[in-house]
Amino acid sequence: MAVTRMYAFRGCPRSAESLPTIAGMRITSRGHIFHQSRGIHGTGYALCLECGRAEPMLPDDSLPEVFKNPHYKLRRAREDGGAACAGSGTAWKIKQGITLGHEIWTDIFELQIKTEAGIWLHRRRAAMTLAVALRDALAESIGVQATELGCDIKEVRVDNEPARYSILIFDRYAAGYASGAERHLGELFHNARKHLDCPVHCDSACPHCILDFDQRFDADDLDRHAALEVLSDDWLNNLRLPDEYAYFGSSSRIENQHLAEAIWHAVTREGFTSVRLYTDGTPESWDLGTSPLRELAYRLAGQDVSVDIVMPECSIRNLDDADRHLLASLADHPNICLSTIGASHRCGNGWLLAEALGMPAKRWAVDDKAALVFGLLWSRSVGPLITAEQIAATSGKRLVVETLRPQQIDTSDREVEIHHELDGPLQGLGKRFWLHLAEKHAGTNDLLSNKNDEIRLISYRDRYLFTPLSVAILVEVVSGLRDTVGTDRWDVSEVKIITTERRSAGENMAKNKLWSDWPQTTVRDQVLQAAFQYVGLYSLVHIADTSSTGHGRMFEVTWSSGKKLTMRLDQGISYWRTAYNNIRQAGHFDLHNNEIQSQGQSLAELRIDIEGSQLPTQLFLKVR
Ligand SMILES: [Zn+2]
Ligand SMILES: [Zn+2]
Repeated sequence: MAVTRMYAFRGCPRSAESLPTIAGMRITSRGHIFHQSRGIHGTGYALCLECGRAEPMLPDDSLPEVFKNPHYKLRRAREDGGAACAGSGTAWKIKQGITLGHEIWTDIFELQIKTEAGIWLHRRRAAMTLAVALRDALAESIGVQATELGCDIKEVRVDNEPARYSILIFDRYAAGYASGAERHLGELFHNARKHLDCPVHCDSACPHCILDFDQRFDADDLDRHAALEVLSDDWLNNLRLPDEYAYFGSSSRIENQHLAEAIWHAVTREGFTSVRLYTDGTPESWDLGTSPLRELAYRLAGQDVSVDIVMPECSIRNLDDADRHLLASLADHPNICLSTIGASHRCGNGWLLAEALGMPAKRWAVDDKAALVFGLLWSRSVGPLITAEQIAATSGKRLVVETLRPQQIDTSDREVEIHHELDGPLQGLGKRFWLHLAEKHAGTNDLLSNKNDEIRLISYRDRYLFTPLSVAILVEVVSGLRDTVGTDRWDVSEVKIITTERRSAGENMAKNKLWSDWPQTTVRDQVLQAAFQYVGLYSLVHIADTSSTGHGRMFEVTWSSGKKLTMRLDQGISYWRTAYNNIRQAGHFDLHNNEIQSQGQSLAELRIDIEGSQLPTQLFLKVR
């Protein structure tokens, strides 16, 4: 049958990171395949509009036999009896020469190959043969019948370059297999090559090597020798990981996903039920509250996966109270445990980052030890993420949570967890914040309600204070405190803000949003002061470097009685974000407006709903 397929992609093309010079690929799960058919004779179909019956036109463009006489309806209802279709006698109801099509949305894996000679694959027979061999190899890797997958080729032109062929492998039943191709790239070509090596040494193609059950291509179109020229030994050798990246020996391969995705895949698709996450670095370099490790651990634990967070022994000894609280509350989850090891595991030139335990285990490693630091950038590295299936490392020493939880010197100290309790309009957040804390912490309540105690000094220390939203929240929290105690008990000459000049790493790429960074931090400083000034407060921004700001986020209130309320926030005021229910435009903020005063005013008056993040934030309060 003359079937034409047309393909359309949604989503961006990208090159395979692991195949930088020899191939390009893209994968979509919203691929659009349009099957179009002009009937066995290529002259189209005759179609009855009344009942939907369609028959191929004859080679001479004449009406098929069925329609030359009265025909039965396509679907005959019992009550119709033997009656002919009403369309039979009416010429205009029988449309002639129709091209039929049907379309499906499915996964498509598109691959372009550059040959050893450095030119894109342009030979049709080689392309078709490779399509069949790669399809068969992929089915084998995934563990499904080859009939689940279809393959095809497509001629493409990029700019003014000569035409080349894309190889397409797609799901025949939209089962989502083709999008998994990326995971098997490492072995795909080697396995395809095996399919091309015919055990009976046939001339071009035979059922022993590449049989296209699909009949998509004529047997004459297939030529394993043409395909073998492309998948030559040298070409395949180019695919091998350079030795320096073979952290796990010869079975090492590049992990094409981010670590969290890869682990998630192992857990949800491959049945792993136990995961180890490795950390390193000194507590001063840690930032537990914002670390993606924490979120990943909770997410996995929520799926009933047991999670072991492995830390260096020496770091545990030097933890401050806030970190002890955070770790202890992580380990309060029945599926999360903590353990320690003497030193991080080396794997070849790399560092062990995570393991999914099993026989064998799935392991991941990176080139840079800094990626193990238990902070915001955990698992991030410039070098590739390398994975392999191997025996897991021996387990570390299990930490008993109760030894970790800080001994409270003063029983009045309090750890307060906030999740969605304060969600709502930004205006009023400050008052809600202090009322909530007063409810949870007797020490705070005493200070706030003592009519004879005045507030003298306020300071807030936070390394990450870069976005208009953080500034707006800070102004709310400080002015909310003033509203709570009343101006009579407010004797604050200046609000001291200690922060840094720029993010230590990780650019914030958002543009002109409440959650973007100001292009220059000097503008941030001025707008912050203008916003405080607008609500009648004088503030002073003190810029420090990351080491002297410390890794904690601290809000301190000093009272006329000499008492000091110290509040440590694990994620700082940046914990709150714009709520999902805001209209889209609500997130807009013009960072390039040079009117400092008007930027400050609009932040102080900002009307927007805010909400807590996915995980709760923890505050540690004490009064001394
Ligand atoms: Zn009909
Ligand atoms: Zn053969």
